[in-house]
Amino acid sequence: MLTISWSIIDSWHKCPLRVRYELEGKSHSTSWAMSYAECGHYALKAWANDKDCLEAFAHRCAEYEHRTVDIKNWDGTFTDTETGIIQKAQIKDLLQKYIAANPTKPDPSMTEVFLTRDLGDGILLTGRIDKLGIPIVDYKFTSSPKYLSKIQAIIYSILNGGPSEFEYHMMIKARNPYCDVMPIPETQKQENLDRVIDGVIKPIAREIQTAQENPELWEAHPHEFLCQARYCSYWNVCDKHFI
Ligand code: SF4
Repeated sequence: MLTISWSIIDSWHKCPLRVRYELEGKSHSTSWAMSYAECGHYALKAWANDKDCLEAFAHRCAEYEHRTVDIKNWDGTFTDTETGIIQKAQIKDLLQKYIAANPTKPDPSMTEVFLTRDLGDGILLTGRIDKLGIPIVDYKFTSSPKYLSKIQAIIYSILNGGPSEFEYHMMIKARNPYCDVMPIPETQKQENLDRVIDGVIKPIAREIQTAQENPELWEAHPHEFLCQARYCSYWNVCDKHFI
């Protein structure tokens, strides 16, 4: 049975070799943006559980900041201290704004719910959903709405068992950080769910299965723009990039 998630599909589109490293559990670097976004998600879950959101954020950030260099393996080319300070301040600001705009806390039993769905053909779709319900909500700390994917939203509807209402709750890390909601109406049509299963998930799963049987053929995309230390967290362990 091949287990596949949105994260794997997203990585596959960027460079299939990333998926190999991910499935092999290779150590990888992370950026301040990714680290503090994880801290933001942690804080929102704590808030749903009646804890102080900003205290939880500070606690989680301190855990990250005190990890050894070996564990966090941050790459100085894109994780300089100044960037870290800015990212942390922006996310703290966004958490305050989000909570002020959403005084009703989510049901904690419906937050960060891990779901699986057997799609047949030996494929198990998995995912962790930030907030289940009507609508399904995915929190995004991002610098622009253009980075959000309709395919990810549809995958969450598939995991939810069928057509579902879905919203991205965006926390935009701009010069003046702001929160906004982006509904994705395409998640409410079964035909869209079927198109993503048959046109995205299953073909990629088949390619991964083929590559696993023939590791020497595992494809890499070293010519792509995203093959840079700044964008690929496996740069430090990969021997396929050009420069
Ligand atoms: S460094 Fe380049 S070739 Fe290697 S996994 Fe990353 S994107 Fe792919």
